Amino acid sequence: MRAPETAPHIAALRPYVAGKPIEEVQREYGLSDIIKLASNESPRGPSPQAIAAIEAAAPGLQLYPDGAAYDLIGALSRHWGVERDQLIVGNGSDEIIQLLGIAFLEPGDEVLTAEPSFVRYEAAAQLNQAEYVGVPLRDFTYDLEAMAKRLSPRTRIIFIANPNNPTGTMVGGAELNRFLDQVPERALVALDEAYFEYVEEADYPRSLDYLGEGRNVIVLRTFSKIYALAGLRVGYGIARPEIIQALHQVREPFNVNALAQAAAVASLGDPGHVERARQSNRSGLRYYCEQFQRLGLDYVPSCANFVLLDVGRDCREVYEGLLRQGVIVRTGDIFGLPTHLRVTVGTPSQNERFIGALQAVLQAEPAPA
Ligand code: PMP
Repeated sequence: MRAPETAPHIAALRPYVAGKPIEEVQREYGLSDIIKLASNESPRGPSPQAIAAIEAAAPGLQLYPDGAAYDLIGALSRHWGVERDQLIVGNGSDEIIQLLGIAFLEPGDEVLTAEPSFVRYEAAAQLNQAEYVGVPLRDFTYDLEAMAKRLSPRTRIIFIANPNNPTGTMVGGAELNRFLDQVPERALVALDEAYFEYVEEADYPRSLDYLGEGRNVIVLRTFSKIYALAGLRVGYGIARPEIIQALHQVREPFNVNALAQAAAVASLGDPGHVERARQSNRSGLRYYCEQFQRLGLDYVPSCANFVLLDVGRDCREVYEGLLRQGVIVRTGDIFGLPTHLRVTVGTPSQNERFIGALQAVLQAEPAPA
């Protein structure tokens, strides 16, 4: 018997390309000492307080989690000075992106974003038979002026990754304000701030202020990056209560697991851990930039925890060479950047190992003349 046919709009979805897992490289290359700098994870691990909270919660796992995430919503509400009904938590901010699509998109609506940016925005459009409009980046940065020209009466969700993934660039407050002033009332702007805690630039938008101004904005944040809880999957959205209510209507009842909730609450209570991670990222970024300059490689200055660099030749060859040395990074070809690699900032020793491996690979395989 033939399997039933997939709905055409689902068959057209591009599968998500994840960073290669360490175990897979171990199996394929017979290596034991592998570092992964491919998925913008924190190299420092979670707060010890989060680990203690997970251990304390584990014996209660026969029970379903709190579907209302009462403690976590309360902790976030105190942390950010917003009301409980302005918050929703999700199985990663990935889930909230998906919920936005389900709750707000109708066939024929448009999803406006930049290209390349985080690939799940396109999926949110396609899953709901909406049209995806990806406006090319300018200088590796969201081109909000060009995006404003693509606003239409059908624009329904605008995704802005700030900082952007895979480029690490950000848009500033003044620019974003100008753009928001042009957004029609029917459209919702999702400011995806997955890398928020790493940003130290003075003109980074104060996105929570938009909520007080009554704008149709949702701010997305995550515990996967600086809080180092990617394996547990927990992210959140902050917006006006009407927007949050629409998302609650479409979410699964128990969308964030009990360990994730406990660990996220504990992580919020350990600001020192976050500060140390930020400092270590700052010096790692500086080190990468110095080394790329020394090696004569172009790179995109980043305000996140990863850097996009131009290796000046087929990125897959360099990627393979790095894999053979036990270093996993991300290739740019999946983002339409065939000579770029995206590399996450690791610990100082991981960063040095990556640079050493990169130098060896580039010397062994010189760039075409
Ligand atoms: N948005 C951006 C811009 C990201 O880079 C990521 C993670 N790669 C996410 C959202 C999703 O993060 P999570 O689902 O782990 O919260």
